[in-house]
Amino acid sequence: MLVALRWLALGLVLAAGSAARACDRAAFAIAIDPGHTRASPGATSARGVPEAQFNEVLARRVLTQLKREGFSKAFLTNRNQAAISLLDRVRRAEERNAQLFVSIHHDSAQPQLLSTWTYHDRKRSYTVDITGHSLFVSHKNGDAAGSLRFAQLLGSRLLGKCLTPTPHHAEMISGERREFLDEKLGIYRFDDLIVLKRRECRRCSSKPGSLSIGTRNCCCAARTTKKNSHRHLWAR
Ligand SMILES: [Zn+2]
Repeated sequence: MLVALRWLALGLVLAAGSAARACDRAAFAIAIDPGHTRASPGATSARGVPEAQFNEVLARRVLTQLKREGFSKAFLTNRNQAAISLLDRVRRAEERNAQLFVSIHHDSAQPQLLSTWTYHDRKRSYTVDITGHSLFVSHKNGDAAGSLRFAQLLGSRLLGKCLTPTPHHAEMISGERREFLDEKLGIYRFDDLIVLKRRECRRCSSKPGSLSIGTRNCCCAARTTKKNSHRHLWAR
């Protein structure tokens, strides 16, 4: 798939019974799930970098930060973009009694909205018009309300960092038309995401933004999209 890399997706799941332990960081197990694999790398950035690479870099950074903050039981569901099924990602999380499941993606905008440019003699796709993040919540799990609350918490923190959600997934176009649960915070309903709807877990998925998630304004966002740098993503 040759598309501009525009979205970062974080899938988050709160396991049933986690609330009482939520304040004990050392006991709160968090599964960080870097989306896609080397064989199935997802979207391609405007400079030809596979989404899976961005996901892995970001997942490792999130894990490092969580450990630093005292979440010693945080772990990755997958490493080095190895082959793994969606269900096995969930199984790994369940085996380690994860109370929160975070799946990280950098997805694209719909192809009809992309422009093209040439980079290193190769035609690539990109967009400078669609930026921002989105949070996704599945109602097909044991605690949709808890998942939504978590999405609201995360969305509020993102907003507090001047990171603006995108309405792209609610557009009345093919492949989108997602239902908003909270437009201001960029929270959507997405019931059938595999990693979000399994069994008893509370499911909340989030899609915080494009590569421009860390930028402060639209101009920076556009530039960052072509630079494809996680430094830009996290340095701001
Ligand atoms: Zn993806």
